[in-house]
Amino acid sequence: MDNSKKETLKIWRIIDVINWGVDYFGKKSFDNPRLEIEIFLQHILNCEKIDLYIDFEKEFLPSDLKKLKKLIKRRLKKEPIQYIIGKTSFYGRDFNVDKNVLIPRPETEIIINVSIDFLSTKKNPSIIDIGTGSGCIGITLAKKFPSAQVTAIDYSESIINVARENARRIGVKNIEFVKLDFLKDNFNYLADLIVSNPPYIPNKEMSSLMIDVKEYEPHVALTDKMDGLEFYRLFSVKLNDIINDEGALIVEVGNGSHPLKVKKLFMESGHDKIEMIKDYNKDTRVLKVLKG
Ligand code: GLN
Repeated sequence: MDNSKKETLKIWRIIDVINWGVDYFGKKSFDNPRLEIEIFLQHILNCEKIDLYIDFEKEFLPSDLKKLKKLIKRRLKKEPIQYIIGKTSFYGRDFNVDKNVLIPRPETEIIINVSIDFLSTKKNPSIIDIGTGSGCIGITLAKKFPSAQVTAIDYSESIINVARENARRIGVKNIEFVKLDFLKDNFNYLADLIVSNPPYIPNKEMSSLMIDVKEYEPHVALTDKMDGLEFYRLFSVKLNDIINDEGALIVEVGNGSHPLKVKKLFMESGHDKIEMIKDYNKDTRVLKVLKG
């Protein structure tokens, strides 16, 4: 029997595929080879990680092997695994993602913690999420505060469709989605809390991003094509008109000197009630500005 024939007849158990994957992704220099293969298997078998190890002796069918091959082909080209399986986890919930939206990052969960803290004393607060993307921030807050009214905006229908589907699936009713370009369109909204994770990577830093990010994530979600401060400039100028008294703006900020540059912008336009909050890596990640 020739080798290829032997190959097709081989019975693969789940554990064989896991071991193969750990070795394969390791050789291809992926940071966490086991995680790669586990995520793909969970996706194909529609199960939890623990099930892979409970049912480790089960046969992994040839039809599933075929599916796995296709997924791995995409991953080898550095496509983010979240786009390949079509979802990621944010604040303990699954969010659908596709190439139209940024993949929510764990650091962005800090915005949620700071917002929950701020909203704990408010009754029926109004919240606006600017640049909602997958909807991760707006939907998480709407779910946490059923008496709040959330308006989530983004500039294109294809983005809003992803967010709307996430809201539907997660079962959130107190949120509305509005197609609006914050940098260009009139913004006639007023809220107790404005949250945003705007595109903040300076254009000149785009070329140094990892391929996974640079070649797959939407550039409009990453950079303002300027100095990474455009959104904050507009926030600082408009703050008094778009936030109610006793309200706040809670925004994510970038790396290095970016947080201080943002802080300076707000100070220059007369807002000095600013708090800077660090993330799990001890980098300043969120800025909270109170109106006043
Ligand atoms: N609000 C979304 C997130 O935090 C999208 C942000 C963006 O597109 N810049 O993931």
